[in-house]
Order: sequence, then C-alpha cells, then structure tokens
Amino acid sequence: MASTVENRVASGAQILQSYLGGKWQAGAGQGAPLMNPTTGDAVAWASSQGLDLSTALEYSRIVGGPALRALSYAQRAELLGKIADVLAARRDEWFEIARTNSGSTKADAAIDIDGSIGTLKFFAKIGAKLGDAHFLRAGQAMRLARDANFQGLHVGIPLDGVAIHINAFNFPGWGLWEKAAVSLLAGVPVFSKPATSTAWLAQAMVGAVIEAGILPNGALSILCGSPNDLLDHLQVGDVVAFTGSADTGEGIRRHARVCKQNVRVNIEADSLNAALLGPDVQPGSPEFNFFVREVVREMTAKTGQKCTAIRRVLVPHAVAAAATEAIADALSKVVVGNPANPTVNMGPVVNLAQRKSVEEGIRQLQTQTDVAYSPSNFSAVDADAQRGAFVPPTLLSAHKNPEAALVHELEVFGPVATVVPYRDKQNGFELARCGGGSLAASVFSADTEFLSEAAVALGTTHGRLLLVDASIGDSHTGHGIVLPSLLHGGPGRAGGGEELGGLHGLWFYHQRVALQGSGATLRVMSEGAADPAAE
Ligand code: NAP
Repeated sequence: MASTVENRVASGAQILQSYLGGKWQAGAGQGAPLMNPTTGDAVAWASSQGLDLSTALEYSRIVGGPALRALSYAQRAELLGKIADVLAARRDEWFEIARTNSGSTKADAAIDIDGSIGTLKFFAKIGAKLGDAHFLRAGQAMRLARDANFQGLHVGIPLDGVAIHINAFNFPGWGLWEKAAVSLLAGVPVFSKPATSTAWLAQAMVGAVIEAGILPNGALSILCGSPNDLLDHLQVGDVVAFTGSADTGEGIRRHARVCKQNVRVNIEADSLNAALLGPDVQPGSPEFNFFVREVVREMTAKTGQKCTAIRRVLVPHAVAAAATEAIADALSKVVVGNPANPTVNMGPVVNLAQRKSVEEGIRQLQTQTDVAYSPSNFSAVDADAQRGAFVPPTLLSAHKNPEAALVHELEVFGPVATVVPYRDKQNGFELARCGGGSLAASVFSADTEFLSEAAVALGTTHGRLLLVDASIGDSHTGHGIVLPSLLHGGPGRAGGGEELGGLHGLWFYHQRVALQGSGATLRVMSEGAADPAAE
C-alpha cells in the first residue's frame, strides 16, 4: 500500500512547507488537508509535526530582529511599500488561490487581498513620516522637581523578541499583513501562524516576498499546520497577536508560559455585532434603504465569515415587519454557488466542518427564534450542493423574545442574522450591549442628536461605531470593513484587544520606558525619537 505522502503527491495536492530559520521546511506525518469548499476536494496539505520551533523562534530573535532594528522607521516603511508592490504584481494568482481554497468570489477575495495591499501601502506612507528615528517618544520632556533641570520623558523602544501572529481562517491575506505591516515597521520580526484550513494563500504570499529578497533574513517566518508547542518557547520581549474564536483566545491568554512570563498578548476574537435602526426611521426613507442594504451586504459578503459581520439586526417594533420583509426580499435575490461563475454573488463557507457548524448554529438559534427567511428549494449554481460547503442565507426573527440568550451569545459564523425588535431607544441600546462587547455596531438615523447619544451609550461595549445618516449612506466604507487608520478590536467578548489605528498600533511592539534625567540628556533622547502622535 502506498504511503500517505505518496497518496498526497498522487492526488496532485501540494504539501505546504513552512519558512522557518531562514529556510523552507516540511513537517512530518500525514498533516491536515486544505479543501476546495466548492468541490469538497483536497487542494493542499499542511503538517508542522517535528519542526523545531524553539530554534526557529530564536533565529527570528537573534538574526531577524537586530537586522530590522538596524534600519530606521522610514527605511522599514520603504520595505513595506516594496512588499505591497510584489503582492500587487501577482494579484491574479492570489485571487485564484482564494477562490480555490476559500471559495471566495472576486468581491470577497478583494476584501482580503486588496485589503492586504492597501494596508501595507498605508503603513509604508505613514511610516515614512517617522524618518530616521529608531525609537519613539510620547509627548515632550517634562519638569519633575524643584530643579527645572531634572526632567522626565516617555519613550518607546522596539521590543527585542519575536512577534507571533496567530490568524483566523477567514482572512488568510489581510490577517497576515495587517499585523506584519505594523510589526515590521516597529522593527520586530514576524512569525506568522495562519489557520491551517486556508494557509495556502498566506504561505504563497510569504513565498513571493521571500523570493523577492526584500526583507532581512529572519524578519519573516511562517508556520503552516498546527501550532504544536509554539507558545511553550515564549520569552520576555516576545508578543502574541491572536485573531480567532473567543475559546481559543481564552486558552492562549491562560497558557502557562504566557502567564509565567507575562507575555504581552492582543486578542481579536469573535463578536455579535449589531446594526441598529433609529426610532425616527420610516420604511422607504433613505436611512431605511441604506440600513437594509448594509444588513444584506454584511450577511452575504465572504458568506458571512467576517468577525465584524452584522449578526443582530435591531429595529423599532413599529417597523420590524417592514424591515424583515425588505431584508428577506433582498436575500431572495442572492445567487449562491460556484464562485467561478460570474452570476454567483455568494460562495460556500470555508469547508464542510464549517458548514456543519453553521447548520448546527442555525438549529440552535431556531430553538429561541423563528425563521423569517430561508430559501425553500436551495440549490447551488454550477456546483454540487451536497459535496460543497454551501449554506443558504438565513434570516431569523426574535420578535417573540428579543432578550433570547442565544441571539446575543451564539456567533454563527456564516450568512445568518437575527432581527431583534426593540421597544424604545434605551431598550435598543440595552439589547445592543447584550452582545457582551463587540467589534463594531452601525446605527442608522436621520437624527444626528440620536446618533451622538448612541455613540455614548454604545461606546463602552464596542470598538468601532459607524453612525450613518443619509449624507454618508453611499460613501461610507461599510460596517464590516476594518480600516488601517482606525482602531480594530473590541472589549469583553471581542477579546479586549486593539490593533491598527495608524501609528498608534506601533506601541504594541514597543516597550514604554519612563526616562528621568537632566534636560540635556533628555533633549538628546527627544530629538532622536519620532513622536507618532505628531505625525
Ligand atoms: P480558531 O479556531 O480560534 O483558530 C484561530 C487560530 O488559532 C488558527 O490559526 C488556529 O490554528 C490557532 N490555534 C488553535 N488552537 C490553538 C492553540 N491551542 N494555540 C495557539 N494557536 C491555536 O478560529 P478560526 O475558526 O480560524 O476563525 C474563526 C473565528 O475567528 C470566528 O469566531 C471569528 O469571529 C474570529 N475572527 C475574529 C477576528 C477579529 O479581528 N476579531 C477576525 C477574524 C476572525 P489551526 O487552524 O491550525 O487550528
């Protein structure tokens, strides 16, 4: 009987190697398959078994880190621009991988791939403004005592460890580069661990950048396959930036090594994001139509597999029926199927396990809600709905019990949302806050006073608020789209993390140090530093 490796090669599916310690390395054993969710076929395999992660991390620390930090912020920003150019030149290839391994339509793949390139370009541009400096400062030197010459200054020194970036399956491209851009600009080497199920795109992109010879040795590594003992080798000076489910995030935060070494961890987890229709909005008004369009876009973009996607649709009782009907009507026009077919606007979820999880999630939600829309005769265009990971868009209604616990607790990571009617604005805000901390909420209203009130009421439980009146109905970038210039992350269940936010994101990769010294010494430090807040 042929060995497993021979079977893999015979099936034509490639074996993904990891780039560790400055060289490509293959793990041992069978590994895990990466699927084409449209056909159910394996397209690649990944194994990390037996890889020496301790040595690989040390290589990043002692080879990659010093080489990166020998460069100034502006020089590192230039490297980001070059990475963006390399990725842009092979854009078609990335779209092909995203379609094959993630079931992405062109529009879905663009969020991930163009989002990667755009984020790198953004940090290349704003990073250049930091100039020749090698460390940061926060504000100016301040007098500390009666002697005016005794002063204090806060500076940020780039960490001398390695940045471990653990990513979720739904953004194999953007998840990699939105973290790497900030980390590399800071001078901290990147050790990326993509989700195994969609690691192909991340691995291919890293391969292109390594091949182009842009970065110093050890500045960029990628581990394909399971994390194994990765976190057991953490040291002081390392950081972990995690994106994924709340359960995995909790496990990482509680990891013995993380606790013992007090390793800095940023968690971007799942959340039950809401869209709230203001009490002033009537059916047929511009705000109503913009609201409906956004809910449908969020339910179907990337087949609902966005951490920021709208899961709860909060509407005043009086217009609940009209809103439900309008959303259901738009959902009935969504064409589900093979993303290669240009008429298709929603592809499959990432694999059969995810399809099962979404179906089970819908079944659980149905124990506390009613189905408001689900296609009666579901079929997938140009694909076998049994073999592929297709799930029809499904709208539920919590009109009988808007407080139903599962509606506010269970993240169903697919094209699923629940309409939740509210009594008055306070009740609407309370229900939005029932998500226990979310990445994003959108509020639609023609009343700017109400939008401002909502911003304050929801501000402590949300990381980002999109406040839509008709004047920005067509021009805003979308509820679910994370922008590099603004913070990404949310409190509570969403993980309590903060990423991006322009140059603010650099602080995660720096140690803040309070300096005390003479005016002359601190002037030297201050003049040699870059102040990201001033750029
Ligand atoms: P997941 O199962 O939590 O996995 C996320 C990552 O963690 C993967 O790379 C996974 O590797 C790795 N991992 C699993 N166990 C680990 C451990 N013990 N130690 C270290 N790493 C470990 O999440 P997912 O299914 O890929 O992604 C979907 C979830 O991510 C959704 O809940 C979504 O809301 C959330 N998400 C959040 C954001 C955000 O920015 N807040 C963005 C995107 C997605 P393997 O794949 O090899 O198991």
